[in-house]
Amino acid sequence: MSIKEKVEEIQTNLPKNVTLIAVSKTRTLDEIKEVYNAGIRIFGENKVQELIDKIENADFEAEWHLIGHLQTNKVKYIAGKVELIHSLDSIKLLNEIEKVYSKKSLTAKVLIQINIGEEESKTGINLSELESIVQASEDCKNVKVMGLMAVIPQGNKAECRYYFSKMNKIFLELKERKFNNIEMKYLSMGMTNDYKYAVSEGSNMVRIGEGIFGKRFYNIK
Ligand SMILES: *Cc1c(COP(=O)(O)O)cnc(C)c1O
Repeated sequence: MSIKEKVEEIQTNLPKNVTLIAVSKTRTLDEIKEVYNAGIRIFGENKVQELIDKIENADFEAEWHLIGHLQTNKVKYIAGKVELIHSLDSIKLLNEIEKVYSKKSLTAKVLIQINIGEEESKTGINLSELESIVQASEDCKNVKVMGLMAVIPQGNKAECRYYFSKMNKIFLELKERKFNNIEMKYLSMGMTNDYKYAVSEGSNMVRIGEGIFGKRFYNIK
């Protein structure tokens, strides 16, 4: 299947309210342009340097999202360049984003990343830390929380659905409660192998890499 056909197939599988993000990490700008030409306007990257290089060299207008872990010392490089940060995972990072964006009179839109499987190997906050990061977000002037993000543990269909539905429950509970400065609009979950389960459990933002671009090889650059 061509990239255009893959994009079209995914789009027919997605309800209208679900935002599709093409995850372009490790891909060249030529490859990304091909996906752009197939109609995609939002791209997700997981590394700050790679993201900046692509934004600066792209000859097309797209919306860029940071979906990978963000180190506090790199916030200054992305301020004003990304539409949404999916990976708010500590109060320390929240405070740094607030500081950097405030200096530039900008507002950062962020999602709180939850390590829903409590896996050692993954970033994201544990559920026990959610309340405190939500409270800290209420006091921010230059950071606006727009929802939640998760990367779930690998597993079979039932396991995937379990974690997605657990995330959706948390999302809906937070949405019910009213907070200053927090709008529970996006639930970012679902990747190539599990996005259909994610959507049926309430996801409204999916991040798809290999399903669009084909298999990723990390060793060649
Ligand atoms: C790489 C990545 C994806 C996309 O994964 P695929 O399996 O290629 O669809 C989604 N989310 C995050 C956070 C990623 O790092």
